[in-house]
Amino acid sequence: MRRKGVLVDRIQLLGLTGDELERFVTEDLKQSRFRAGQIGGWLARGADIPEMTNLSAALREQLARIAVANPVRIARSIQSRIDETEKYLYALPDGNLIEGVLMRYHHGDTLCVSTQVGCRMGCAFCASTLEGRVRNLTAGELLGQVVAVNRHIQSADPQRRVHNIVLMGSGEPLDNYDNVVKFLRLVNDPKGLNISLRNISLSTCGLVRRMYDFAREGLPVTLSLSLHAPNDEIRRRIMPVANAYSYEEVLTACKYYVEQTGRRVIFEYALIKDLNSEVGHAEELARRLRGMRCHVNLIPLNDVKERKLEAPDRRTVETFLKRLELKHISATVRREMGADIEGACGQLRRKAMLNPESLECVSKMPEVHFRRL
Ligand code: SAH
Repeated sequence: MRRKGVLVDRIQLLGLTGDELERFVTEDLKQSRFRAGQIGGWLARGADIPEMTNLSAALREQLARIAVANPVRIARSIQSRIDETEKYLYALPDGNLIEGVLMRYHHGDTLCVSTQVGCRMGCAFCASTLEGRVRNLTAGELLGQVVAVNRHIQSADPQRRVHNIVLMGSGEPLDNYDNVVKFLRLVNDPKGLNISLRNISLSTCGLVRRMYDFAREGLPVTLSLSLHAPNDEIRRRIMPVANAYSYEEVLTACKYYVEQTGRRVIFEYALIKDLNSEVGHAEELARRLRGMRCHVNLIPLNDVKERKLEAPDRRTVETFLKRLELKHISATVRREMGADIEGACGQLRRKAMLNPESLECVSKMPEVHFRRL
């Protein structure tokens, strides 16, 4: 199928497991099995099909007709002038756009990966969900983000590579369960990128049934739970998912995750002015979390222009943190990164869709079409 000059139904080689790649090579390409090893090696290094020089020119041509190595292309990268954060706008084969952020921490380069185009969870403070979910990303598009960024940063410094991954970009990872689980196994493959699952965090708004499934997958990734409230009443005001699963059910699922994986859970708590950031809320939160193996990540809300919610002042944030600590709850305030480059979830993509000309090189790409709002 062709759309705007781009093949959208080509096989995404990065999304295949070793066995699937072998089957594709022997059955579809009618080649011998060792070719799969050769292609797999190239893919792990981020090579494109024309660069696979130990394949014959004819085979490369045949391959390029039916397959694409990496379906994700960096359409635009923006470097923060404040810190070393870099933001990416990626183009997908069907013209959709997603985004990602690379943050430099002392424990290595950390990439924030998107899991869906848009999101259908409807959280009141989040830009990613404003137009709902467009579609799930494939496993190849998930892995493709990491491979594309590796290639991008290695062009300047061959020693650099994505070391940690947070599934905290646009989308709800547990609403795209099968592709996300496949991605986690692929990215951890010793023959592939070989990124340790312990260096990966998955953030969910709390799809409880899927949290139990995920706990049983045997994947020791860190679970981040977007809690954002000290009780059901406040949570329901900002997160529609709280109408489906109660606070207690979410915490019980988190405890199960801790039991199954031995890993502590991280609670994300966006501090919102006049909503969830009073001392009484910190006390209530501490009571609810008492005795759990957990850590609370406080995030002063990133203002989203379309919403009327804003962050509280600094003193309120500090008081909230101190009160949690006083109650023996481990907590930190998340350092703001990339504040000058639309660092928050969904903001860059939204800017590109509303005003394509604002992103000069994107508007020059003929195959990218902008979804109308
Ligand atoms: N759907 C997943 C992951 C994507 S969002 C989830 O809900 O966890 C990643 C994190 O950013 C979540 O904790 C989300 O609640 C938070 N977030 C979204 N918009 C935000 C904003 N404007 N300010 C602060 N945090 C925000």
